[in-house]
Amino acid sequence: MHTIFNKSEEQRIVEAIKQAEDNTSGEIRVHIEEHCKYDVVDRAVNVFEGLGMAKTDLRNGVLFYIAFKDKKFAVIGDKGINEKVPENFWNEIKEILRAHFKESRFTDGLVKGIALAGVQLGQHFPRKHDDKDELTNTISFNH
Ligand code: CA
Ligand code: CA
Repeated sequence: MHTIFNKSEEQRIVEAIKQAEDNTSGEIRVHIEEHCKYDVVDRAVNVFEGLGMAKTDLRNGVLFYIAFKDKKFAVIGDKGINEKVPENFWNEIKEILRAHFKESRFTDGLVKGIALAGVQLGQHFPRKHDDKDELTNTISFNH
């Protein structure tokens, strides 16, 4: 059982992903687990691959990875994004997450971070009229 979100919180996050993806062809996913005993970015890359997130057309998947009991997180984008955006692209989003997670406000932090990701990604990857939902908007939980 995961204990981080109740149903309505989970719904808010899924809705935030859906709305963010209305702005961009980028595909956002959230993965939650309790602990991360590895380097958090290495672990996020592993999850990214495990979820098949490198299979988007434009290689513009984004993963919000959270190990909530350890208050560790990472935001990583696929290579299509890394080729296009400046290195500090995720800084503001990470700052929002950090500030909220510190107070255990995971839902608010994610909703705000995901919204900003949608806006920022939209500048580099505008949504196309024939957009497909290439990666599910549901949250991935590791129990
Ligand atoms: Ca899409
Ligand atoms: Ca999606």
